[in-house]
Parts: sequence; structure tokens; C-alpha cells
Amino acid sequence: MLIETNTTNVPDARGYYGDFGGRYVPETLIPALDELIAAYNEAMADAAFQNRLAHLHATYTGRPTPISYAARLSEQLGGAQIYLKREDLAHTGAHKINNALGQALLAQRMGKQRIVAETGAGQHGVASATASALLGLECIVYMGSVDMARQQPNVFRMKLLGAEVRPVESGSKTLKDAINEAIRDWVTNVRTTFYLLGSALGPHPYPMMVRDFQSVIGTEARRQIIAMAGKLPDACIACVGGGSNAIGMFHAFRNDASVELIGVEAGGCGINSHQHASRFADPSVGRMGVLHGARSFVMQTPDGQIADTHSISAGLDYASVGPEHAYLRQTERAFYTSATDEEALSALQSLAQTEGIIPALESAHAVAEAIKRAPTMPKDAVLLVNLSGRGDKDLDTVMKALKL
Ligand SMILES: *Cc1c(COP(=O)(O)O)cnc(C)c1O
Repeated sequence: MLIETNTTNVPDARGYYGDFGGRYVPETLIPALDELIAAYNEAMADAAFQNRLAHLHATYTGRPTPISYAARLSEQLGGAQIYLKREDLAHTGAHKINNALGQALLAQRMGKQRIVAETGAGQHGVASATASALLGLECIVYMGSVDMARQQPNVFRMKLLGAEVRPVESGSKTLKDAINEAIRDWVTNVRTTFYLLGSALGPHPYPMMVRDFQSVIGTEARRQIIAMAGKLPDACIACVGGGSNAIGMFHAFRNDASVELIGVEAGGCGINSHQHASRFADPSVGRMGVLHGARSFVMQTPDGQIADTHSISAGLDYASVGPEHAYLRQTERAFYTSATDEEALSALQSLAQTEGIIPALESAHAVAEAIKRAPTMPKDAVLLVNLSGRGDKDLDTVMKALKL
């Protein structure tokens, strides 16, 4: 399936989504971003590039991923019918491969043999290492040393896939510091190196590019849900870390006015605890700011330092959010809410026991919102939940949290 570009009026030519987005980077990176925009536009207009990506998705990623009707869960809740878009069944177990493969193909086309990527929990690192192995590219993954200690299996996976994992010892030694290091590497080695960014974040054109590569989710899902349910869903629900799986789902439904778009942030220990990663829900910490090259909602201290965040799911534990989500919220096209750690854990167990599917903790936040909403809706209503990934990576966390 070919990816359509320029199907909406955002971003504008300068990379803005209304007040959000842009390119807040050192002067030295502007030519590299310009080169990337030109290469990206050229690639997407080239049927050979698009066909190669579509072919790899069909023969390697395992696309189209199916939609499953969650019959027992829906029955138990007694309201809307719940359908799951199964990104957990994509190769490497999550949607991240859609973007990694697209960007790695673009790097190859640009003649860049060296990939740098950042990773928090290791999921984007694994997807980048996978795509790099497939295409024969060198891959260096920056990862905070605290995260490396917490995510040993993914560090090992990346090494098995032939990537070099570089520990980052600066700052809090977590994701935001890893992004800083990856950007530093890119600035230094820009001629030979491609920065493979993992979510709908960063300076233009990354949020647009990542959205387009992930839009395959919604394009497939829209066709599938009409075939299965006989109509458009009443709402699409997706979890929002940086925002790539959500924007990938929302994009295809954006012009369907009857379809509510609902993003679910990490509510952590609860919004009032301030221990969370809900950039939109808590005005005492989340407000307009700049992080990693884009203007968006950023969790910050009163004097503008990046605030600490908390979530049980590493993939949602980030201080900023993709600029297009800030725009969709401001224009009231999408609605954002949150689920706490506890609600996500409970949703994970419900889905496991009613449907035989153990979701990633990130995805369990979206399931938690469906569980809240379904009982308030009529039986002929349809909820489409993006199940962004599988739970294998989270078994350790879940075991500890449930004291099993
Ligand atoms: C990384 C990750 C997320 C969060 O990233 P987005 O860019 O917001 O999609 C969500 N779900 C899974 C399974 C992930 O691995």
C-alpha cells in the first residue's frame, strides 16, 4: 500500500502545526534538515521507493496486521463493541518497525551508511537495529546508562542484531540525555550519518515523516473496520508517548468528522500526585516549551527546567509530546485523557484474561480508556483501540507491580 503525503494542511512549509513544531536546532543542523526534507519528498514521490517499503511491509513486517474483535471483553463491559488493531503482531512486537524501516530505507537512498538512534526502554533501539541489519547499515544506539541497567534484554537484543549500544552518562542518564547525545553525534558526522528518530517528535521534518510512515496503521485499520463492523468507528483510542502510534492511527480518520480521536497519556500515580507524564492534563507542569528541536507541550519546573516524569511504561515516560498532538488538541479535533499505572495494569490483566492477548503496558493505557468508555455507550457503538505492542518486554515490571 502506498503512503499518501500532503493529505492535510499541516505542517506548513516551515514545519509548524499551528503554534507548534518548527526547527529549534543549532545553526549547523539546518542544512542537514533541508537535505532530509528534499530527500524525503523525492523518495515519497518515487513509486520505486514506495513499492520497496510496501513490499518489505508485506514480506517482512507482517502487514497488514489484523483487527481482532474483542468479543468477550465487549460482552463483559456491556456497552460498545471493542476492536483491536494488532500492531503487537508486527515484527519485533510493536509499531516502531513501521517507522524504523521507512527511515532506514531513506538513509540508504541518501547514501548514508551509518545510522544513529536514541532509545529509552530499548524498543526503538531494537527496531532501528533490526532495520539496519536488514539493509546492511551500521547502527549506533545511544542509551542512558540507567536505562541500560533496567532494560538488559533489549540491550542484548540490539547487540545480537549487530548494533553498537553507547551508554550515556550525562544528566539523568535516561531517554532525554540519549536524544541529546544522538543529536550531538549527528551534528558531528552529518555527512555520513542518518539520525533515525523514534517518535513523532523533533525538528521538522521528523514529526511529519514519522506520521507518514506510521499512517499505514490507520489506512489499513479504516478499511478493515468498515469491512468488519460495517461502518466507521465512533472513536479511535491510542496511547500517546511521543505520539507516533496515535498519529499513525488518527491520520486516516482525521477527515471523518463522526470519529472521535482519543489520545491517552500516562497518568502515573495520578494527576494530582504530579508523578506522571501527562503533558496536557496538569497545567502546573505541562505548558508550551521547546524540547529536542520542536515547540510543543513540555513538562517543566516553574523556572523552565525539564521536569521529572513517571510512568510504569517506559514508552510513555517522556517530558514532551509530538507537536501535531498539541495542534490537534488546540483545534479540538482530538481529545486527550490519561490512565494511571494502576488502571493500565488492571486493563492489561482484563485483556489477557478475556481475549488471550497480553498487551504492552503502553497499549494497556489505551485499553484502560476503552474499558472506562464502553459501558457508557450503546451496544451498536464501535471503539477501535490501537494495540501498539505486545507485553513480553514488560513481564518483569508487571510481575513486580502485581507482586506475583
Ligand atoms: C514506544 C512505544 C509507545 C510510545 O511511543 P509513541 O511514539 O507514542 O507511539 C507505545 N507503545 C509501544 C508498544 C511502544 O513500544
